[in-house]
Amino acid sequence: MGVCPSATMVLLRDNFTGVLRLWNRPNVLTCTSWKAPIIWDGTFNPDVAQREARRQNLTIGLTVFAVGRYLEKYLSHFLESAEQYFMVGQRVVYYVFTEQPAAVPRVALGPGRQLRVEPVMRERRWQDVSMARMRTLHEALGGRLGREAHYVLCMDVDQHFSGLFGPEVLADSVAQLHAWHYRRPRWLLPFERDERSAAAIAFGEGDFYYHAAVFGGSVAALRRLTAHCARGLQLDRARGLEARWHDESHLNKFFWLHKPAKVLSPEFCWSRDIGRRAEIRHPRLFWAPKEYAEVRN
Ligand code: UDP
Ligand code: MN
Repeated sequence: MGVCPSATMVLLRDNFTGVLRLWNRPNVLTCTSWKAPIIWDGTFNPDVAQREARRQNLTIGLTVFAVGRYLEKYLSHFLESAEQYFMVGQRVVYYVFTEQPAAVPRVALGPGRQLRVEPVMRERRWQDVSMARMRTLHEALGGRLGREAHYVLCMDVDQHFSGLFGPEVLADSVAQLHAWHYRRPRWLLPFERDERSAAAIAFGEGDFYYHAAVFGGSVAALRRLTAHCARGLQLDRARGLEARWHDESHLNKFFWLHKPAKVLSPEFCWSRDIGRRAEIRHPRLFWAPKEYAEVRN
């Protein structure tokens, strides 16, 4: 991975953390070609972000889907670790989408933190559960979630927090670098290449491969993102197509067309299976081991 040539020349500012200390991480890419920060441990000041979020009196939403066996297997650990590390000291509202509301674990919540359970239908295939999230999120953002939160993070449930994950991640639109792909050359990235698909990205296109396990932004930006992805998924379905990585392929297409305002380094969603990497200093969220045989139908 090359270092942004202008990284040390530009004083990249971030609304939540002020001037980013890009020079602290000279060996990684800390800004995109469109001058959005890629935040790594050491480039931001979490205290500044914390104060700014309090000053703006923000409510931050965290959405997660737990359908079928994913609920029992992952949800408690996800929520308990979020209580420990996610937006500590801020007003937080969790939205848990499930077809089993009665089975949602009763996690003790800190002050200023609430949990809402939203019923969803259970889709038959796991891919359909994953893809249906875009439409459901779009509707939720148009309803109560959109009215009560200013910024929202949308996450997979098969992961848990392992370090502070605070307002430094906030921006109008936020994308997560995929831990397995951030060092790969562009032509090797697993974008959808079938040009009949709404998610298609041609060779020579695509900035980064983003992970759908974490994305976020303001309510208005997320309304546009989820509308775009839900529409693309629908168009593909009508043509009898399914993109290579389902909703993630459509998310990648959206971020190619509408560049994210902030990018999170792989420290914000890391897989232990990758092993040690010098640039991964402080993982804040870990993937759960993939035990598909147990949770997928
Ligand atoms: N999911 C779910 N039940 C399912 C399939 C998916 O709740 O049967 C949700 C869950 O939040 C999960 C996300 O959709 O984390 C994406 O699916 P998965 O994590 O299996 O996809 P991967 O990360 O392996 O691409
Ligand atoms: Mn996942």
